[in-house]
Amino acid sequence: MPVGATGRSLDELTLGHDMRLEELVDREALAEMTRSVYDLFKVPLRIFSSDGKLLADAAEPIALYGYLNTLRSARVALHDIAGIVKSLDPGSEGGIVHPCVTGALYRIVAIEYDSRRIGRMVLGPFVPDNMQTPPRSLFDLDPEIEIERTIQLFAEAPHASEERVLYMGQHLSRMLDLILFSGHRSLLTSNMHLASVRESFRELEDKNSKLQQAYDRLKELDRLKSNFLATVSHELRTPLTSIIGYSEMLVENLAGDLTDEQREFVQTIRDKGEQLLQLIKGLLDLGKLESGTMSLRKNYLDVPRLVRDVVATMAPTARKKDVELVHDVEAGLPQIWGDAERLRQVLLNLTENAIKFTPARGKVSISAALGAMDAAKPDDAGGIVILSARRTAVEFRVSDTGIGIPQGERDRVFDAFYQVDSSSTREQGGTGLGLSIVRRLVDGHDGLVRIEDNEPSGSVFVVTIPVKRATLG
Ligand code: ADP
Repeated sequence: MPVGATGRSLDELTLGHDMRLEELVDREALAEMTRSVYDLFKVPLRIFSSDGKLLADAAEPIALYGYLNTLRSARVALHDIAGIVKSLDPGSEGGIVHPCVTGALYRIVAIEYDSRRIGRMVLGPFVPDNMQTPPRSLFDLDPEIEIERTIQLFAEAPHASEERVLYMGQHLSRMLDLILFSGHRSLLTSNMHLASVRESFRELEDKNSKLQQAYDRLKELDRLKSNFLATVSHELRTPLTSIIGYSEMLVENLAGDLTDEQREFVQTIRDKGEQLLQLIKGLLDLGKLESGTMSLRKNYLDVPRLVRDVVATMAPTARKKDVELVHDVEAGLPQIWGDAERLRQVLLNLTENAIKFTPARGKVSISAALGAMDAAKPDDAGGIVILSARRTAVEFRVSDTGIGIPQGERDRVFDAFYQVDSSSTREQGGTGLGLSIVRRLVDGHDGLVRIEDNEPSGSVFVVTIPVKRATLG
């Protein structure tokens, strides 16, 4: 059951069980109303909650009572009367009248809302109009009482007819009814609003915890998948090395001469074995990168040498496909802080893709120039941007004039096993692992990789690697 602002259930609040006067009306509005009624009738007026708490008090000090309170026995008697007035049951119609030791009267009227008693008002003390002198009993109250002074002060005390005070009570009840009605309505509205907010919050919390459980489970499954891939890849590599080794020995006639056809078959076994080995190496790399167990051996590296090395390695492949391969390294580049073998792997992968997805007579170019790390770098959770100082960097660009990558696919191609699903891509074969390894290796160098359009066709992979080693802390 929804619970409202006061800790009670919504049903309790809407049905009005245990309503409290102080909850329903604004204290200031109550004070203003009692003051205005006092100004009109000049009879003291107090409003109490059902448990006797004074909520509003519109009365000016009465000199008679001030004087009597200075006398010990009189003070005790007045105190007793006040206690009785606060606890007497006023009934429900118009209230009851209770006399004071001074001869003045109190009218006590119940405050009800929706047939429920929620407080009381006390009108008085007032001296009835027809009473000129105090009762004799007042003079007997305290041996030190000064009779003349008492009579004088009695005459100055508030006077009113009993009918007038009865009317005053009725008038006040009607005004209170109006205030209570609107107060109750706004209390209900705000409590219901609060209860519904609490309910939505609880539902959100529920959903959140379910999402967290699902996320934890997925993470665990992902970890199991990575472990499985790593184990299987490792176990596959050993027999594969033998297959490649033995087929190489066969091709080299170490087991006797082969016919041309036999040689061709064995050569195919070797080539496919080699392809499989590359895939397994990729899986092992990815596994290590995902689990964070790949250690990068970083040093200051010479950029022109790195680019020249990649071009030299890829030149035969480009030539075979009739793709022009050029490079351009800006003079005077600073050294970069990185793992030579792994950065070479990054550039080789991008160049291999560039050649693979470029038709004959196309062009692939690798360039390196001075650049800067973007001031903002998306964090791991994605979306949130962490601001960091601008850092000098070297920007590598691998451009091709090939089929290009549609804008909507540019993020996804970095996912493991993802390939742009077009027949032209599929024709080229491949595993879809290369770019995910590239991105992780670039991340490991505090760098960034992005894809741009090449004009008029093709794509450009831009890799930015900071020049300085990252300072710790
Ligand atoms: P693979 O090349 O083995 O399929 P990658 O992870 O290297 O795996 O690439 C993923 C996909 O990204 C490729 O299958 C291809 O669809 C697309 N792609 C990568 N490089 C290029 C490029 N230079 N031009 C066009 N598409 C590319």
